[in-house]
Amino acid sequence: MKSQEPRSSSSCAACKALKRRCTPNCQFAPYFRSDERKKFAKVHKVFGASNVSKILNEVAEEQRDDTVNSLVYEAEVRLRDPIYGCIGAIASLEKKMAELEYDLMHARARLAFCVNQHGNMATWIQDIPVSSGMVETYNQNSFSFNQFSHFPFP
Ligand SMILES: [Zn+2]
Repeated sequence: MKSQEPRSSSSCAACKALKRRCTPNCQFAPYFRSDERKKFAKVHKVFGASNVSKILNEVAEEQRDDTVNSLVYEAEVRLRDPIYGCIGAIASLEKKMAELEYDLMHARARLAFCVNQHGNMATWIQDIPVSSGMVETYNQNSFSFNQFSHFPFP
C-alpha cells in the first residue's frame, strides 16, 4: 500500500540522512534544516543520531539551540583532531596563556628592576629624550588585555 503522505522534499537534514519521513513534530527539524546535511552528518558520525536525540530530550527546549551548536562544534573538532578533540584546542589555549603569563611576569620584573635602578619611573621616562626613540618603542610594544576578550571562553 502506498503511503498517504508522500515524502516531503523539505524533510529536515536528519530525516533525509536517516531515510525516514519527517513529521511536523520531528525533534531534529528545528535544528537541522533540509539544506544543512553536512551539519547533521558530522554530528551523526561522531555522536550518532540516537545519542543526539537522547541529549536533546534531556535538555530544556530553550537550551536546545545552544546544545546543537555545541554538539556541532565538538563534532567538527573531533573530526579534525580524532585524538584530542576539544581538549587539543583547550590545551593549545592554556599553553598560550602560560606563555603570556610568563612574558607578563618577565616584563613586570624588568619594570621593577628599572624602577629600582632609576627611582621614580615617571621622572625616568621624562628624562629620556624623545628623539632617542625609546618612548615610541615602549608604546609600540605595550598591548591591551582587550585583545584577548574575543576568545570563545564560556
Ligand atoms: Zn525531520
